[in-house]
Amino acid sequence: MSKTIKELVNLALQGGPGFCQIAVTNACNARCRFCSFPQVASGERVWADPERLFKGLHALKKAGVQYLSITGGEPLLYPALLPAMELARHLGIELILCTNGALLTPGLICKLKALDLHTLIISLDAASPREHDEHRGLPGLTAHIREMLPLLRQAGLDPVASVTLSRMLGDLRVMMDFLKDLGFRRVTFSYPLNRLNSSYLGFADHYSVDFTPRELDQWFTQIKELKKDSPLSILNPTLGLTELQRQLRGQPTRFPCLAGYKYFFVDWHLQVSRCHFLGETMGPLEEIHQLTPVRDNCTACAIDCYRDPSVFQYVAVSLADTIKEWQQRQWLKGLRTLLHPHNFLSLAALLEGRHWVRG
Ligand code: SF4
Ligand code: SF4
Repeated sequence: MSKTIKELVNLALQGGPGFCQIAVTNACNARCRFCSFPQVASGERVWADPERLFKGLHALKKAGVQYLSITGGEPLLYPALLPAMELARHLGIELILCTNGALLTPGLICKLKALDLHTLIISLDAASPREHDEHRGLPGLTAHIREMLPLLRQAGLDPVASVTLSRMLGDLRVMMDFLKDLGFRRVTFSYPLNRLNSSYLGFADHYSVDFTPRELDQWFTQIKELKKDSPLSILNPTLGLTELQRQLRGQPTRFPCLAGYKYFFVDWHLQVSRCHFLGETMGPLEEIHQLTPVRDNCTACAIDCYRDPSVFQYVAVSLADTIKEWQQRQWLKGLRTLLHPHNFLSLAALLEGRHWVRG
């Protein structure tokens, strides 16, 4: 979608686009061991109220959110998914959809194409169909994804494989070959989660994702190495991986997390949180445009959904800060903000992250 000069100026003044992740339901059809959504009993399943969600989409637009990532549970189970997506697109919001892929059909793919979906993310856990299907508790899932991939590509949706770092993975290169053989061209690694304080249940106290800081550090080194000659584009920014390694090693971090300032998480009760790690909620979705943003350099977690984009967006936020400082006639302070070396690192990360942009 091309932007007018006025929109681009507004974007610069705001520090770049806002991003919101919404879990529209806590129901899931899979049984992944490293996740707690399967523990939700059928009587406790919740679907986001469609009327409130539609109102909330207008509020998101007013709050400057331009990217909405829809997840669950499994979002394809959500009955009002397509109407919600249609309204979001009507409001000019770009959409990212995260799914386990089991409910993808040729008809749904046509609808996603008509909605001009920005990014489809499909999760994969292990480098063999038997292990992946067994872990998900969905027989035939890998074969189904293999069948859907050419249709997705024909529809102009070049899906991203999302792979959680877990003990199910051995050599990451074997995983890359498996994904390539399935038909993926892009991959992002999700960092393991065994504790979250919000209502989000995409974590488990399970040995498969219970890593020591040293083990995590080694994973990040492996991914950085793999990026040099991987057959797939790896979307995690090298700078983001280095930043989290600094955190794991007790060194000062350089790129503040933007969750609560530019990024938000909304659960199936349509309550807004800064992210899916912190327990406190900020208010209802319908009021997101009136909530007070938080900017406190939090480093409490290493969740890729927030920490990786914070590295990309550092330079945009820095530019907005510069403009504000110059508006207050703080010329030297503004110049120092503008020429800070971290801006150039962030710009380089943006260039490296160009594969997130659809072709
Ligand atoms: S990881 Fe995703 S697909 Fe697996 S149980 Fe959790 S929500 Fe469902
Ligand atoms: S560092 Fe983690 S816990 Fe802190 S605001 Fe960012 S995403 Fe949330």
